[in-house]
Amino acid sequence: ETEIPTDHPRYQDLLTRHRIEAGVEKGITHLQGMHAEGRGSAFDYLLGEETIPSADEAERAAAAQLLLADHPVVSVNGNVAALVPGEVVDLASTVDAAIEINLFNRTPERMERIAAHLRDHGAEDVLGLDADARIPNLDHERSKVDADGIYEADVVVVPLEDGDRAEALSEMGKTEIVIDLNPLSRSPQVAAIPIVDNIVRAMPNVTEHGRALADADGATLREIVDSFDREAALAAAEDRIRSGDLAGE
Ligand code: ATP
Ligand code: MG
Repeated sequence: ETEIPTDHPRYQDLLTRHRIEAGVEKGITHLQGMHAEGRGSAFDYLLGEETIPSADEAERAAAAQLLLADHPVVSVNGNVAALVPGEVVDLASTVDAAIEINLFNRTPERMERIAAHLRDHGAEDVLGLDADARIPNLDHERSKVDADGIYEADVVVVPLEDGDRAEALSEMGKTEIVIDLNPLSRSPQVAAIPIVDNIVRAMPNVTEHGRALADADGATLREIVDSFDREAALAAAEDRIRSGDLAGE
């Protein structure tokens, strides 16, 4: 990571790519995670590689929704673990959420490695290893969740999630907070709160909003959630992408 000159115009993007490569080498990220990263990187370039105002609003609404939740869970896959392990732990402790590992390509080895990686970054309880419940209407491996985790959750943060699983969770009645750089992808399309932003910026910013709102009363939090307009947020991101205001230009 230190080999990238910090004044390189694509510094943050290169750093992110290196973290995914390191994740693959460590056995916590699947090779397919590199493709997901490439798609994300392209959309981030088109967005200007910054948190656009509508994404910041979504991040504040997400923080409010998490603080209102009875049983919030942050879902972690191989890319999330490679990119923002410490930030996941920070968010979970700030809004009192559980952390659950959920992998598209699930193997016991990767589950264990990611759990150890998250613990190295300060996580106490890591869910997902029991896999004693199933998400209905999803193929066997991808449907595995913990009964006391995502299965029971009322609000779930699902970053970089594939569309089928995001849809199945939404059909279960979960309030989904999706972090995804592609506003046209099905995952943000089914989310109650779509955050169109890079996870490396989004995750710490949700936490920051969570800290700022920690003492807010329920009515204030509810008002923030209710006034959030998911359609407007998706449209604003798409407009930004179409406007051609490219990163580094
Ligand atoms: P599907 O149609 O099933 O959703 P997809 O093309 O969206 O498929 P996936 O691998 O399922 O591909 O999802 C990866 C998603 O994660 C992509 O939409 C990509 O833009 C997004 N993504 C990748 N890296 C990041 C990142 N660092 N921050 C936020 N989103 C990211
Ligand atoms: Mg997608």
